This record gives sequence, C-alpha cells and structure tokens, in this order.
Amino acid sequence: MKLSLRGVGKSYPGRRGETSALLPFDMDVREGEFISLVGPSGCGKSTLLHIVAGLAPATTGTVDLDGERVLGPGAEIGLMFQQQTLFPWLSVRENVRFPLTLARARARGGERDGQAAARVDDLLRLVGLWDFRDSLPAELSGGMQQRAALARALVGRPEVLLMDEPFGALDAQTREDMQELLLHLIQHHRITTLFVTHDVDEALLLSDRVVVFSERPGRVLASLDVTFARQARSSELKLDEAFLHQKREILALLRGRARTAAQRDRLLFGLTNTPSKGGS
Ligand code: ADP
Repeated sequence: MKLSLRGVGKSYPGRRGETSALLPFDMDVREGEFISLVGPSGCGKSTLLHIVAGLAPATTGTVDLDGERVLGPGAEIGLMFQQQTLFPWLSVRENVRFPLTLARARARGGERDGQAAARVDDLLRLVGLWDFRDSLPAELSGGMQQRAALARALVGRPEVLLMDEPFGALDAQTREDMQELLLHLIQHHRITTLFVTHDVDEALLLSDRVVVFSERPGRVLASLDVTFARQARSSELKLDEAFLHQKREILALLRGRARTAAQRDRLLFGLTNTPSKGGS
C-alpha cells in the first residue's frame, strides 16, 4: 500500500473540553489511486489532510507512507489548498521553484541548479504559464494562480498529492479546465491523490474511489469505487446513467447526514463558500 492509515482520529482541546473532529478509522490507499473525500463542513476532512501531510499530529493512530511512519512534513507530499497561497512578492517562476530552494537550503535536495531550473520550466510549460513566468501572482487570474500552485505542489516530485478544495473558488469553465489538467498530470506521473471537495460531480469525474464522511465527528459512511471508465469522463458523462446512479447513492448518504439546509445545499449543488472553521 502507498498509504496506510490505522486508527487515525483527532480531538482538539478547547475551553469546554475536547472537540472530537474525526473518529478513529482505517484507510488504505493504493499507489496511483485518486480518492475524493466528501462530507459536511466540519467533519474533519482538512484535519485528515493535515495529519497525512505530517503538519498536525493525530490524537490516535498512525499514518505510513511506503511503509515508513509519517512524523512530519516532507518533500514526498505535495499540498494544494483552495485559498491563494503563492508568495505575492515572488514571480510565478520563483514561486514554483520555492520548494526546491527550501530543500536545497536544508541540504536535503542535493540537486544541481540546472536540473531544478529545467524541471521548473517544464512544469511552467505543462500548466500553460510559460508566458507568465516573470509575472507576479497579483497579475494573474484566479485560475492561473491555481495553475502555479499546482506546479509548485508537483515540483518536488511528490509521491502523494493532498488537495483541499483546490478549485472551489474558480468559475465553472476554469474549474473544468483545471480538472482536465489535473487528470492529465497525475495520470502521467501516477501520483497518489487525496482530494477534498464539496462537489459530488467533481469527485466522480476525477476519482477511482469516493470516501463519504458523516457530519462531525467524522466517520467513514462509505467507500465507493467509481465504476465507469475514466477515459469516458467528461462533462457529457454527467448525463450517463451509471454516473447518475453513483451520484444519487452519494447524495443519499450525504443528505441523510447533513444537519442544516445550508449544509445540504452545499453538498447538493457544490457551492464553494466554505463556512468558517467551527461553524458546523
Ligand atoms: P472540514 O475540512 O471537513 O470542513 P475541519 O477538519 O476543518 O473540517 O474541522 C473539523 C472540526 O475540527 C471542526 O469542528 C473544527 O471546528 C475543528 N477544528 C479544526 N481545526 C481546529 C483547531 N486548530 N482547533 C480547534 N478545533 C479545530
């Protein structure tokens, strides 16, 4: 297994006692598998990504990547979030290169400058930002900024990509373009991916498997293999009977669990505004 989670759970301490965010659960992820995590806001999806990334400790349980315990962040894991996380004072090229510069400063990269520069430039071409390599993030559209963030997540040649609603703030057309680009890149590099989304269509279009969580404290309600062939996936597929069948199945699970009308709407229509943390 690429990733093995065993008994992973999380509670946060608070003034009124502990908040249980995620109930202990097991999950195995195969090499190259694309898994979407869906569930009501506040059910612990971001918490789970932070634990897998080694950015936050689990309260219980362990995460192993290629049989090695994850104890802190490392280059083998690439991260991408919904909000803009580029450094505003660095050019697009410098932003994409940043993780390599950091690794080198920590003397963990050991890569020659020429090789690093070539990979940065390859990625800039792949994500369609070559002509904007010297621009600052503020000079780019939202979609272009997320392309740069995607290139930066991939530049360290991660084994695993963790994405937290990365296209949630984009308009529908840009979002479709980004989905296509992402599929192309991860299939090409066979990267194992955990992808958090509110959008069931997006989950079904991209994933090998969709894991559905309950409302907080999150527990796994279902883990569904996506049954139709990925080659056939496109916006037309949204009318396909097999697609609709799986979509209904996931929505029924979510509908049964979403507590408020607002949560239900977000789940059903994939609306992008995520309420503030703790507001579930
Ligand atoms: P999701 O990504 O599914 O919306 P989160 O993982 O962000 O959910 O949050 C799960 C629960 O944990 C929420 O109730 C949230 O309020 C709580 N939580 C998240 N981060 C913290 C934190 N740093 N301190 C305290 N509680 C937190």
